[in-house]
Amino acid sequence: MEKNHLPILIAGGGIGGICAALALARKGRRVQVFEQAAEFKEIGAGIQLGPNAFHVFRALGITEAVTQAAAFPEALIVMDSLSGDELTRIPVGPEFRARFGYPYGLIHRADLHAVLLEACRKSPLVTLSPSQQVRHFDDLGDRVTVTLSSAEVVEGAALIGADGLWSTVRAAVVGDGKPRVSGHIAYRAVMGANEAPPANRRNAMIIWAGPKTHLVHYPLRRGELFNLVAVFHSNRYEEGWDTYGDVDELHQRFAGTCTEVQGMLRKIDAWRMWVLCDREPIKDWSKGRATVLGDAAHPMLQYLAQGACMAMEDAVCLAGCLEAADGECEKAFLDYQQARYLRTARVQLTARLYGEVLHASGATRDLRNAYLRARTPERAYEDMAWLYDAQNVGDSWNAGAAAAGRM
Ligand SMILES: Cc1cc2nc3c(=O)[nH]c(=O)nc-3n(C[C@H](O)[C@H](O)[C@H](O)COP(=O)(O)OP(=O)(O)OC[C@H]3O[C@@H](n4cnc5c(N)ncnc54)[C@H](O)[C@@H]3O)c2cc1C
Repeated sequence: MEKNHLPILIAGGGIGGICAALALARKGRRVQVFEQAAEFKEIGAGIQLGPNAFHVFRALGITEAVTQAAAFPEALIVMDSLSGDELTRIPVGPEFRARFGYPYGLIHRADLHAVLLEACRKSPLVTLSPSQQVRHFDDLGDRVTVTLSSAEVVEGAALIGADGLWSTVRAAVVGDGKPRVSGHIAYRAVMGANEAPPANRRNAMIIWAGPKTHLVHYPLRRGELFNLVAVFHSNRYEEGWDTYGDVDELHQRFAGTCTEVQGMLRKIDAWRMWVLCDREPIKDWSKGRATVLGDAAHPMLQYLAQGACMAMEDAVCLAGCLEAADGECEKAFLDYQQARYLRTARVQLTARLYGEVLHASGATRDLRNAYLRARTPERAYEDMAWLYDAQNVGDSWNAGAAAAGRM
């Protein structure tokens, strides 16, 4: 399949970049990943994996490794954080698996990243280059050159920007300025499960929805750890990434929430803080021999818990398109964005809407609560089907093989 003997270059070794490297290697392409950090690793926080992520794991042959590291909750529960009342409980046990074919998983980011990385390390086709920031690239028509922070210039068949929210590659390919600061702030922490108040130590993903705030907690590592994410509205922060949170402000924002929420928040002294950003959806994020994926292509608020899932879907789709295009990068990148943009745009826009609904007050809160109380699990499954069914993941992965009559 490979017409161009040069490797495909990837800027960024987060979940999206590493997953793309693995997917391309599984399709027989040589890849080199440049990561600006000194090590390939993820931050210490949890991540939710919808069944759509498991389509990706199956395609890449890593389902078992992910399953061993993940926790599998019995239910997704939404509580009202003022009254402490349960609003809805969606079972994600056997009936959910029967409906979607795959489970709902909860995993430590470092564990997911490690599974992807380990699979990459086992492949002779993947070169991992840490401490290398991509500064600039040139599309020379039949190949690209990438200039690194070390001043080294590397040649590749094409460049994939998996360099996240503040993507350098996107700036060159799309050039639409800075991301949109949402005014929502996330504080994250992980604690030992035995430190969590016993009433909250449930095998469930629990969201406490409140006015301009919410708290999410769920177990990780087969229940040994507990992940917490507390979100509130604040116009105090313009932009920034990965700094320590102000505990006094957190407690002030959650004043008025029920004792269970306050009790959970008091368990943590040191929170990491994120200023949450997204962008308007776009449909063109490829130009010539360069494209972007994951947060570089369609950064989204985390309210659907799908940013990393979308990045991994992108990776598998892109590798499938490259195989189907017989290695012609320019065509493959256009096919890939065409296959992906409507789905990712829908997730970006729905995530904003979910944020508003979660953080509602007054009549909107009452309406939300009435809707969620009345909703049956079957109806909830149908509401999620557009997102979780993800048959297209398998289809795009197999497109090349299908075109070649190998299926
Ligand atoms: C609070 C919160 C909760 C979330 N929860 C979930 C969830 O439950 N489920 C889910 O699916 N998603 C979730 N997400 C979203 C998810 O974290 C992101 O969408 C995902 O990590 C994006 O992966 P990425 O590889 O595209 O980008 P990133 O993770 O940002 O990785 C980019 C990588 O590129 C590197 N880099 C940047 N610039 C350069 C350069 N010029 N040269 C070389 N390297 C570079 C960076 O160092 C980094 O390693 C959540 C996000 C937040 C903030």
